Amino acid sequence: MHDLPDLTPDCSACAALCCMALPFDKGEAFAFDKPALHPCPNLSGHACTIHDRLETEGFRGCGLYDCLGAGQRVVGEIFAGADWQNDTSLRAPMAEALTLLHRVHAALELLVAAERLTLPDALASERSALRAAYAPEAGWTPETLRAHAASGLDKRLRAFLASLRAHV
Ligand code: SF4
Repeated sequence: MHDLPDLTPDCSACAALCCMALPFDKGEAFAFDKPALHPCPNLSGHACTIHDRLETEGFRGCGLYDCLGAGQRVVGEIFAGADWQNDTSLRAPMAEALTLLHRVHAALELLVAAERLTLPDALASERSALRAAYAPEAGWTPETLRAHAASGLDKRLRAFLASLRAHV
């Protein structure tokens, strides 16, 4: 079985993708509204100019977001280092890939946790099959991420997770 991707965010290997892709609403966690696909005005290049004082500036929500390592893979692997700031036509496809890969990494995080359980053979084999499907050796492209999202695998994952109740 090949290694799993790193599920820890590495902002230094990303390109502030979440600060462009995700929307947020003014309120307790964010000081103003930002629509999806619009760069946050607090960005300078790929750096947040208020990162050391997010809470005091009213952006507590930014510190709560965890891309689970999807951001750096979208930028480095799937889009080969392309920069949405230089090519605005990349914003929508990179944002879509971030959303889809974030879901994939969230599934992998659950499957990794499930590896601590001693399971009967049938469930252990389903766990391995799901892990392989969510972490394909060939990696991801925008097309395979879309196909994966439409494949119904998330439903199979939910059924697998529900079946673990008897083993925790
Ligand atoms: S406040 Fe900083 S961390 Fe939050 S979205 Fe804007 S640039 Fe990104």
